[in-house]
Amino acid sequence: MKTLTIIKPDDWHLHLREGVVLKNIIHFTSDYFGRAIVMPNTKAPITSIDKAIAYKKFISEALPKSSKFEPLMTIYLTDETDKGELINGFKNNVFFAAKLYPANATTNSSLGVKKIENLYEIFELMQESGMPLLIHGEVTDSEVDIFDREEVFIDRELQPIIKSFPKLKIVLEHITTSYAVDFVQENNIGATITPHHLHINRNAMFFGGLNSDFYCLPVAKRENNRLALRKAATSGKECFFLGTDSAPHLRKWKAFCGCAGIFNAPVAIESYLTVFEEENALDNFEKFASLNGPHFYNLSPNKEKLKLVSRSNKVVEFINVLEEKDIVGQIKPFHAGEILKWQVEGIFN
Ligand SMILES: [Zn+2]
Repeated sequence: MKTLTIIKPDDWHLHLREGVVLKNIIHFTSDYFGRAIVMPNTKAPITSIDKAIAYKKFISEALPKSSKFEPLMTIYLTDETDKGELINGFKNNVFFAAKLYPANATTNSSLGVKKIENLYEIFELMQESGMPLLIHGEVTDSEVDIFDREEVFIDRELQPIIKSFPKLKIVLEHITTSYAVDFVQENNIGATITPHHLHINRNAMFFGGLNSDFYCLPVAKRENNRLALRKAATSGKECFFLGTDSAPHLRKWKAFCGCAGIFNAPVAIESYLTVFEEENALDNFEKFASLNGPHFYNLSPNKEKLKLVSRSNKVVEFINVLEEKDIVGQIKPFHAGEILKWQVEGIFN
């Protein structure tokens, strides 16, 4: 039986949602990750210091007792974001970073930014103070094909941002294309890569009929892109790090309207590790999962260790969402029903 011990990882891109869903799913992340950047696209987005403090309190109260997990909060940028609020929140350690959603790019993003130039004064301040900018990199114009939206965003929006603010700390989130892989490396920015974009290409959404289980945004692309992402993630290069983009939706909504998002938190570490093993890159897994992110964000790596064991690991079909003791919904995890080859053994000092 093979084992692998790495520094405890962090998740640099995570959706925790709210209410009963948050209470039911947070332990999947907090059990094995030291920190996570929590996305601000709650139903009423996190656009102020007060909202971020209240959301963090709710998260902290939902954590298992004695948990050392640290949620890193973000502010949701809008056309009306107040400069003072943003910088005060960053300087007082309420906000770890700011998140840019082009309006309507994904779940709960209708209040996102309509014209990115409107934020240039804010980017100036962020650059001066060292506040990271996390970007959902897709244009949302209806005339741009959904499979081209990342590339068009890079050319039309990201290039000019980098040109105007060369010292701004930028992360292009959940990259999905070989074009993004090359761009990130050439432009000295960071990128997160999800487990699902390493496993599926766009065919998954159309296998056996329209299948919303594999619908997320940005959508999975052609196979050549998946292969480029696998090469990037397993390369050990400092610009690429772990960000699951785990995004739970109750089954009834996923089945009813096919909401975008894949819930991978229960199997994220094992899912990534499967890819690293297939690519003969187990030696680089710790860099991707536990070192490159802290390095990019100027943080220390976690102190504890995570031990993984190679043994057969059957993934459940559904996870029940409980309120008191009643089942109020179900969420389907990524890899549902599959047998993975690795399993988390536990956390050690
Ligand atoms: Zn996301």
